[in-house]
Amino acid sequence: MTLQGKVALVTGASRGIGRAIALGLAAEGARIAINYVSRPDAAAEVRQTLQAMGSDGLPVQADVAVATDVARMVAQVLEHYGHIDVLVHNAALHRGRRVQRLPEADWDTVLNSCLKGAYHCCQHVVPHMSARRSGRIITISSFVGLIGWPGDTAYGAAKAGLIGFTRSLAKEVAAYGITANVVVPGYIPTDMTAALTPKNVDDMLGLIPLGRAGTPEEVAEVVTFLATRAAYVTGAVYVVDGGLSL
Ligand code: NAP
Repeated sequence: MTLQGKVALVTGASRGIGRAIALGLAAEGARIAINYVSRPDAAAEVRQTLQAMGSDGLPVQADVAVATDVARMVAQVLEHYGHIDVLVHNAALHRGRRVQRLPEADWDTVLNSCLKGAYHCCQHVVPHMSARRSGRIITISSFVGLIGWPGDTAYGAAKAGLIGFTRSLAKEVAAYGITANVVVPGYIPTDMTAALTPKNVDDMLGLIPLGRAGTPEEVAEVVTFLATRAAYVTGAVYVVDGGLSL
């Protein structure tokens, strides 16, 4: 197990893709700080599943959009586990409307969780990783950040921004033995996509060359690779979308 003795902080680990990432990293031996914002029940379920695997999890509530929450979360994880070796910024939420009907509050909510959340997490985790001269940072973007989507100006801006953020970060932290990479999921049925109509889903599937939706575990597989074996990979953008963005 390549992450034996290591600790991973996964934001938005209580459900969906983040949950699968937490389980994937735990299967490699990591102990997991399970960040959530509003669903302690879901975070507790992930912890129980980790314990059943023989691993360990620490649910940590924090809104990644709020700097003081993130500062408290990182301090809590460091106090409990002593170190953070892997940071996965996966937390996000979606608010979709055409730009002329998109309330400014929705724009701010999306940008603050997806993009500013990465800045908050890195502000607090990078000094710790730099001092230890080692670390792996992975951010979760979206195919929408690559190809755009109607109704997704805020989400698309945030997810494209994450790519620029992570590639700049990779150059900043490389000298400290830290890598930073982006994973770009395609259409992955989760709570986030539950509002899509059957027609939306059919249209989406019709755009995917591999002809099917992806699974949270298929995204997690690539995150695990980046967190473990990918020692000479930094600033890279791994697209896990069945060809949707081609
Ligand atoms: P999801 O099922 O809606 O789960 C979202 C997770 O993020 C939950 O754990 C939620 O916590 C947490 N969260 C939301 N806002 C937060 C905040 N401000 N602070 C801390 N945690 C927060 O979403 P998902 O589909 O798994 O998406 C995971 C990531 O993949 C996101 O970055 C998303 O943009 C990206 N993505 C998803 C798809 C897709 O098709 N599903 C496609 C491309 C990219 P609570 O449980 O406490 O609410």
